[in-house]
Amino acid sequence: SHLPYFAEGPVVSGFGRGSKELGIPTANFPEDVVRALPESFACGVYFGWAKIGSSDAIYKMSLCVGWNPYYHNTVKTMETHVIHEFPNDFYGEHLKVVVVGYIRPMCDFDSLDSLITAIRNDNRLACQHLDSSHNLKFRQHPFFSSPP
Ligand code: ADP
Ligand code: MG
Repeated sequence: SHLPYFAEGPVVSGFGRGSKELGIPTANFPEDVVRALPESFACGVYFGWAKIGSSDAIYKMSLCVGWNPYYHNTVKTMETHVIHEFPNDFYGEHLKVVVVGYIRPMCDFDSLDSLITAIRNDNRLACQHLDSSHNLKFRQHPFFSSPP
């Protein structure tokens, strides 16, 4: 397995698929960060920890690794949903994530409702798993205290 997996880079604009309107905004990593993923890093939904910019706060997150249908599935994306409410967007900020566990493969949903239900469930699972001592320890990882 490739976990834990450490990734960092500036937050870039995604494809405006309306994630924010669903209440689940996803902060996108740039192409080079996605390209750096090992070939065999499975697409799917993961959980881990995230840090934004120079703030000391470290948040729970869920991360989707998948192919973008808009580009005929030729472009892979890495999208982080930080499990926290922010008053403002943070495009351009340096995002650091530690991916510690896997939740499920990507799947097609037959309705918006089932998609939203699945994402709420992902975030609930992420929160639960991250409270275990094995996963909690990554919150203190030196990766988060070193400058970008
Ligand atoms: P885009 O298509 O540009 O990625 P989204 O609708 O997915 O648009 O919104 C993502 C943006 O929302 C992020 O880049 C970030 O600036 C902002 N944002 C605000 N709150 C969060 C959050 N809790 N998790 C992730 N991104 C957030
Ligand atoms: Mg997004």
